[in-house]
Amino acid sequence: MNEKLTGMLLVISGPSGVGKGTMVKELMSRDPSVVFSVSATTRAPREGEVDHKDYHFVTEAEYDRLLEEDAFLEHATVHAHRYGTLKSEVEERIARGQNVLLDIDTQGALQVMEKAPDAVSVFILPPSFRELERRLRGRQTEAEADIQRRLANARHEVLLLPRYTYAIVNDDLGRACDTLEHIVRAEKQRTQRLSIQLDE
Ligand code: ADP
Ligand code: 5GP
Repeated sequence: MNEKLTGMLLVISGPSGVGKGTMVKELMSRDPSVVFSVSATTRAPREGEVDHKDYHFVTEAEYDRLLEEDAFLEHATVHAHRYGTLKSEVEERIARGQNVLLDIDTQGALQVMEKAPDAVSVFILPPSFRELERRLRGRQTEAEADIQRRLANARHEVLLLPRYTYAIVNDDLGRACDTLEHIVRAEKQRTQRLSIQLDE
């Protein structure tokens, strides 16, 4: 039997600090078919972040040029910074059968769902808003004003949950990652993504 797979677009959203980045890393270590789409952003790098690996860190002028060139699949202003998914990170890799993962905010996710209705979208929820605040503070990467902005935005973001295909509560990390892995595994088997040739 010969089985060929077409790649999927996998959109992950959820409030800042919920654990998306942690879950995404774990998923990619478990499933090498999943590749990360590195976004462009005007936000400054955090301690330990690597240019072109975590983000393409660009100036406001460079971001404007990318917008002019129509280089983005989607883009949005999130927590006072600009972020965008580059078409060059996505299109060719899907055609090659890779599963391209976008860790993007709700505004961007809605744009992608509109443009690519077969995208698989997953919303990650915290067990509570209190726990979300604990994680965001525990990470120690944002100043107080930024933490407050991210927590306020979280209240609006969760309202968009029904627009997503799947929801996962990231309570126990291992269990949440298992669920995400299972979703990807099942979605790969959709007949629209498979081309199966049976031998005689
Ligand atoms: P996001 O990418 O959604 O902003 P991160 O992956 O940076 O979030 O996670 C925020 C913080 O929460 C990190 O310090 C991470 O280690 C921690 N974290 C992630 N998942 C869990 C979990 N299930 N339980 C407890 N802490 C978690
Ligand atoms: P952070 O600054 O914590 O890395 O990300 C802040 C928010 O921006 C997160 O919700 C993240 O998912 C979102 N984000 C990251 N890259 C993109 C992108 O390319 N497009 C959009 N719309 N959101 C993004």
